[in-house]
Amino acid sequence: DNPIQRKPAWIRVKAPTHPIYHETRELMRSNKLVTVCEEAACPNIGECWSQRHATMMIMGEICTRACSFCNVTTGLPKALDGDEPNRVADAVAKLGLRHVVITSVDRDDLKDGGAEHFAQVIRATRAAAPETTIEILTPDFLRKDGALEVVVAARPDVFNHNLETVPRLYPTIRPGARYFHSLRLLDQVKQLDPTIFTKSGIMVGLGEEKMEVQQVMDDLRSADVDFLTIGQYLQPSVKHAAVARFVEPGEFDDYAATARGKGFLLVSSTPLTRSSYHADRDFAALKAA
Ligand code: SF4
Ligand code: SF4
Repeated sequence: DNPIQRKPAWIRVKAPTHPIYHETRELMRSNKLVTVCEEAACPNIGECWSQRHATMMIMGEICTRACSFCNVTTGLPKALDGDEPNRVADAVAKLGLRHVVITSVDRDDLKDGGAEHFAQVIRATRAAAPETTIEILTPDFLRKDGALEVVVAARPDVFNHNLETVPRLYPTIRPGARYFHSLRLLDQVKQLDPTIFTKSGIMVGLGEEKMEVQQVMDDLRSADVDFLTIGQYLQPSVKHAAVARFVEPGEFDDYAATARGKGFLLVSSTPLTRSSYHADRDFAALKAA
């Protein structure tokens, strides 16, 4: 028996009632786009979509992995949709975004892990909306030699790949992934193209110790990672990993201060921080600085 724990008062979410929220939803529907905001049942959807900030999820709704924190369906995905890059680009242009976040499911079934498709989405979006900065949140391309190079060559502005949790918890939380492979991936992006900002994130409340989080920060900085996000893990359903603990807001502030001290350029560490939360606002502020 593993009931979903009652959420503390600081995990409060506003109901999505804003007219722009509905506009954003309509555009996603009409362009047949999948969003991680909906797939992950993200608590920030009311706030983000009311500001036209949505994270698109490409390459289908079915993932070849089965991370125990994630709400996305596991299975054998469908073939890639060759028109998807155009539909993403069109939606970004119509939304008039200054910054877009594009992510995907994991496609272990494809020879290149979907790298060429990812690159096409970046190129199409760049062409349709040249002023929009592009942030991608990618799978780990484990055992897909040459895939990373293809994605980096398409020159996203921000390359994000989440470590998700501390290495000790990988076998239960992120089976199928390898901590040091993910870390190396981020390091390689910087080596391939130092002009690309790199970013990573973890969830807390999964049973990690403070020291372990600090070690992850050090590991990320040793791979020259620029931005860090830390948010509270929320259990999508009773079938998913249980919340070990609701980390208090003050502890998130402590993590933020520690991370800034270690040299991250952008840090978001709050209970409702998600990888893409405020990514548009924060990146615009960094560029203006
Ligand atoms: Fe979507 Fe990210 Fe906002 Fe959540 S935080 S609603 S995933 S853009
Ligand atoms: Fe979810 Fe990504 Fe894990 Fe797939 S690889 S189950 S989409 S977190």
